[in-house]
Amino acid sequence: MAKLIKEINAEDYKNEVLAQPRAVVDFYSTECPPCEALAAKYEALSEIYGEDIPFLKIFRQGNRELATNLDIIGSPTVIFYENGKIVGDRLTGGIKRSDLMRNLDALLTENEKASNHAKIQKYETGTDVIVLGGGPAGLTAGIYLTQAHVKTILVDTALPGGYVSTTHLVSNYPGFIEPQQGFMLSHYMSEQAKANGVEFRVAVEVNDVDLENKTVTIDGVETIKAKKIVIATGSRPKPLGLPGEKEYGGNGISYCATCDAKYFQDKEVVVIGGGNSAIEEALFISKFVKKLTIVHQFDNFQANKVAQEKLKSLDNVEILLEHEPREFKKYGTMDMGVVVEDLKSGERKELKTNGIFVFVGFLPNIEVFGETLGVDQWGYLTTNDEMETSIDGVYAVGDVKTKAYRQITTAVADGTIAAIAISKNM
Ligand SMILES: Cc1cc2nc3c(=O)[nH]c(=O)nc-3n(C[C@H](O)[C@H](O)[C@H](O)COP(=O)(O)OP(=O)(O)OC[C@H]3O[C@@H](n4cnc5c(N)ncnc54)[C@H](O)[C@@H]3O)c2cc1C
Repeated sequence: MAKLIKEINAEDYKNEVLAQPRAVVDFYSTECPPCEALAAKYEALSEIYGEDIPFLKIFRQGNRELATNLDIIGSPTVIFYENGKIVGDRLTGGIKRSDLMRNLDALLTENEKASNHAKIQKYETGTDVIVLGGGPAGLTAGIYLTQAHVKTILVDTALPGGYVSTTHLVSNYPGFIEPQQGFMLSHYMSEQAKANGVEFRVAVEVNDVDLENKTVTIDGVETIKAKKIVIATGSRPKPLGLPGEKEYGGNGISYCATCDAKYFQDKEVVVIGGGNSAIEEALFISKFVKKLTIVHQFDNFQANKVAQEKLKSLDNVEILLEHEPREFKKYGTMDMGVVVEDLKSGERKELKTNGIFVFVGFLPNIEVFGETLGVDQWGYLTTNDEMETSIDGVYAVGDVKTKAYRQITTAVADGTIAAIAISKNM
């Protein structure tokens, strides 16, 4: 542990935390990947801020009573204190350096802040390959590259795992007889990558990507220079762009059934969409809710027939075809409205509901690359058979690239192909 970080226990809490003018405490656990991701950032920041603010660590499982009294339910949880009072944000999960710095700065005077910021030193790290994105595609590329002795740094703006980590159950990934919890499957993949020697930079901010010069700058301090770059940044749900969507996104409107269906036990929801993911997700949500209304613009669904039939057979599901949403409204917690238009008659009506789920497709995560790469008509990156993009030495794998089917197996296959192609030419 860094010299300016002190490990304490519950009995020291009063003196070491509450009696101090200011302090920061990391409540951590063992066998906790987000705690590991935080550790390097906490250590680096202790060297900058540690003379002004005591940096403390408390082992959560060994100090359960204190953690429970402080309502700590996840590891890591970082709490900031001023004169014995909790202040600032309570940070948890994939904690970013910028969030830590913002809260630490808030504890300092302007002079102290300036002198601490003056201590920040930028540095460069060399590697063979940078993999951008730690979903199944990026993790597989990392596993194959490191097994071929190609030094690899994997950068992710979130914790590793990608979509798999938020998928409830995965039943179609070969090698497992029983359906696997998505969280566990992605955990196995990232632990395998780590065990093979992939270096992780996760829950970071990606400030700049220079594909021509193969450099990536993260958290404003580290510039990683490589010989090749693999883009594995996946895609994200497409918004509808309707009034009310931005305001109530994450606050009444959800894009993730696995994350949010549980909050609608015995409630009513509206699902927008009619493709594979809308039907699959609606099937999942239907297990929780009293009533689900699915709204789709066409006169039939574009999803696989088995899933469609299953959804149609459910008593708690109502289907509203040839209707389009026009506006989202919110009246209170779990009190929402969707204005829908009948596309045949042009008539509008409002569906009152407790929550809204939107599943109308995806957009590739490529904004950070500017307009430098070749894309298909939907904006996905184009590659040759070896996953090479329009820029020499830059590869694209997984959901971010043009392809017919976006699945874990196809992402894993892309990662494999790119890594073998790269390792043969290093
Ligand atoms: C709800 C849902 C359920 C699904 N269920 C299944 C299923 O049961 N079986 C199946 O085979 N497939 C399923 N899929 C599809 C599957 O999850 C994807 O095809 C697969 O995850 C794609 O992997 P990927 O590595 O390309 O991208 P992702 O899994 O999306 O990972 C991309 C990673 O890149 C990171 N990232 C994004 N932008 C940046 C950036 N600028 N810099 C660095 N990192 C960045 C993200 O944080 C993320 O970790 C499901 C998808 C969804 C949405």
